[in-house]
Amino acid sequence: MSAINPFSQGRRRFLTTSATLAGGLLLDYPSSGLAQVAPLAGKYDTLSPKAWRQLALQLKGSLIRPGETGFPNLALPNNLRYRSITPGGIALCADAADIATSLKWAKRHGIPLITRGGGHSYAGYSCTEGLMINLRQFNTTAYDAARQTIRVGGGIRNGAVYSALQGIGRSITHGRCPTVGAGGFLLGGGVGFDMRRHGFASDKLVSTEMVLADGEIVTANAQENADLFWACRGGAGGIFGINTAFTMETFPVDRSIELQLTWDAVSDDFLATLFLNLENSPEAFGCKITLTPGMPLPGQPASINVLIIGQFIGPLARLDEILAPINAMKAPSSTVIEQVAYWNASAFLAADDGPGYYQERSRFINGPMTPEIIATIRDWLPRWPNAQGAGNIKFYLTGGATQALAPADTAFVHRASQWLSSIEITWTPGQTMTSRYRAHRWQNGFYEMISPLCGGGAYQNFPDPSLQDWAEAYYGENLPRLRAIKSDVDPGNLFRYAQSIRPFRPGSP
Ligand SMILES: Cc1cc2nc3c(=O)[nH]c(=O)nc-3n(C[C@H](O)[C@H](O)[C@H](O)COP(=O)(O)OP(=O)(O)OC[C@H]3O[C@@H](n4cnc5c(N)ncnc54)[C@H](O)[C@@H]3O)c2cc1C
Repeated sequence: MSAINPFSQGRRRFLTTSATLAGGLLLDYPSSGLAQVAPLAGKYDTLSPKAWRQLALQLKGSLIRPGETGFPNLALPNNLRYRSITPGGIALCADAADIATSLKWAKRHGIPLITRGGGHSYAGYSCTEGLMINLRQFNTTAYDAARQTIRVGGGIRNGAVYSALQGIGRSITHGRCPTVGAGGFLLGGGVGFDMRRHGFASDKLVSTEMVLADGEIVTANAQENADLFWACRGGAGGIFGINTAFTMETFPVDRSIELQLTWDAVSDDFLATLFLNLENSPEAFGCKITLTPGMPLPGQPASINVLIIGQFIGPLARLDEILAPINAMKAPSSTVIEQVAYWNASAFLAADDGPGYYQERSRFINGPMTPEIIATIRDWLPRWPNAQGAGNIKFYLTGGATQALAPADTAFVHRASQWLSSIEITWTPGQTMTSRYRAHRWQNGFYEMISPLCGGGAYQNFPDPSLQDWAEAYYGENLPRLRAIKSDVDPGNLFRYAQSIRPFRPGSP
């Protein structure tokens, strides 16, 4: 079997020339809650070339300015919606001292800065018009056989971490996309097919090294800077400092069963059986369900199609038992079930993750799937306006070991869920604004109807620029402690973006 997933549910990718974006100026509909996209020319382009040269001279790494080789690729975010927010300069830092130098320089010139790991923030939170501190060169891995931990650089891509782990027959809870940055992934929680056995990825973080706003280089773990360490396990990236390395516990892996099944035009009873059986499956079962609107046929009721991808660590016969009640309701239209080496299964399940235009809106579902949620899906999914892009709702099976810690044990508060849901839309650069507006309106309407039924917050690693109550939704009861830690380590709010935790200020609530 090919390692490339023929049914990849990665987003449709549109690698386009900037010309297709009409000079980069994207006019959004303010009333729809769409984020305004900044113009192409970074406003800190105008800072004197001498000031930029001074920074370049101080770095062991390099400073890349607009127009220089490599700039377009380094500046490009995964979500092309934010591609027109381009930095005045990119510091390709070589070590922690370079980062401290860059922070000091940015403060001196009053220039905003942002940290860039893998560049996959859904909401473009590693884009800036000021100084981008790019961690690409922090890409080493080192396995400690005695402790069974792996130490990785703060800017390494997940794919490089997986390659290192594959070589030693071990793993961590990992996502499907190799080009996502390990830093952003770990700091915001980290969801993957192993989480029901081993917890969220950040649950297994044992230590991290950081550069703080004042340039101090610190280690944070259970013994040293314990509050900061707590914040780094789910508090999200780019807020408390710049993490130059992470050390994580690993677990052994051998073989796993990769699975991918589809069903067309399913009933509500089928959906109820599907969710019920998977909720009650063993922790060794991990999956993601994607529901898409079927093609409307004249005179037919609107239909819903189902795709499940996932893995099971155990015997094939046990997986058959888990799937039997679902298959008895309706035979799948396609089935791939194969027991292979663990990392081959991960490669099969890997998603196409090239850049594209998209927005996701997430909610954790605390408790089992309910008839009310299924009825809302039935009502809303088929209303997809057939805009030129695509719309779907997906569900990651949580529960199991993700509930082993209490909400306040780490910054990752979402501990009661059975599912993580996310409504996704994608669009194309050539799509008309009317058609795109319809897609956003569908997503917002669907989200508003389903959210109150879910009972949980929103996933901070799927940042959603349309979310009004984002701080409570991402952090819940952990927000006051996170703000206190932010106030301690970054009272001047050097590390900031639209949805970053703010420090307390005198007189603020
Ligand atoms: C295609 C795709 C697939 C995904 N799949 C999954 C998945 O399977 N499971 C899952 O849980 N999530 C998934 N995500 C979400 C992903 O985990 C988050 O978007 C994550 O924050 C991206 O990290 P990054 O370093 O690539 O992005 P960036 O945009 O570089 O960073 C994200 C945020 O973290 C900050 N940051 C990054 N690195 C550091 C660092 N070392 N120190 C301090 N701050 C840092 C940035 O400033 C930014 O605010 C996916 C996202 C995409 C686009």
